[in-house]
Amino acid sequence: MRLQNKVAVITGAASGIGKDIAMVFVREGAKVVIADLNQAGADATAIELGGPSKALGVAMDVTNEDQVEAGMAKAIKAYDGIDILISNAGIQTVMPIDQFDFGKWKQLLSIHLDGAFLTTRAALRQMYKQGRGGSIIYMGSVHSKEASALKAPYVAAKHGLIGLAKVVAKEGAAHKVRANVICPGFVRTPLVEKQIPEQAKELGISEAEVIKNVMLRETVDGEFTTVDDVAETALFFASFASNALTGQSLVVSHGWFMQ
Ligand code: NAD
Repeated sequence: MRLQNKVAVITGAASGIGKDIAMVFVREGAKVVIADLNQAGADATAIELGGPSKALGVAMDVTNEDQVEAGMAKAIKAYDGIDILISNAGIQTVMPIDQFDFGKWKQLLSIHLDGAFLTTRAALRQMYKQGRGGSIIYMGSVHSKEASALKAPYVAAKHGLIGLAKVVAKEGAAHKVRANVICPGFVRTPLVEKQIPEQAKELGISEAEVIKNVMLRETVDGEFTTVDDVAETALFFASFASNALTGQSLVVSHGWFMQ
């Protein structure tokens, strides 16, 4: 058990990647807080993971300062502190820049960047006070390093998370708080399932062509990354013992992007 007695708050964990990370972390002995806009989904996930002795659902819109403060306070009280934050909540909106709606641009940046900032600030305040170190992990993407057409705010936000992680690594070091970014390739979660018909429509090609020729074209083997691949990477970052691994980003994408 690599996370025995650790407390992890995972945003956007009612679904997809965040949910799988929560499952792997409980398996490894952590207590997890499922913080999600979807309260019913967060509660159901917490029950699935074993109920209050192991997991707690918390309603949280990561773009709302009051909700983040209240949700983080609830999490910290429930399990007496916080050791790991996974800032994972996210959405995707695909549109060419010349047609991009400003409201949708701002919504995406707010979920990915304001959400990361607000949850990080609350976690750091507690981690500094506790004095037992901590690990902050941002859910980046291959789009933290590479661009795709139709994804302007997503690519901008995911690049931005790498900058934020580097600042947290520098400021947090004295308190043994590390910050790193996971950069997955395409993973078949609801977020991606939604994009397949949207991209097919925008690009005027079939859904099968979107998968083969857009999403997986640059991989070494034509395969999707899985939620487990991403969760194991989160476990690696979360359980690392020293400041040696901080301010880094790790691409998990079947070779789509190679550094
Ligand atoms: P998902 O749609 O399955 O899950 C996203 C979760 O975030 C949902 O439970 C949703 O309710 C929650 N959420 C959305 N807005 C929120 C808000 N304002 N406050 C709190 N929670 C909110 O998506 P996923 O694929 O699991 O994505 C999780 C993260 O992984 C995202 O940051 C995404 O950008 C990133 N990512 C996904 C892929 C992929 O291919 N699926 C690849 C790289 C990175």
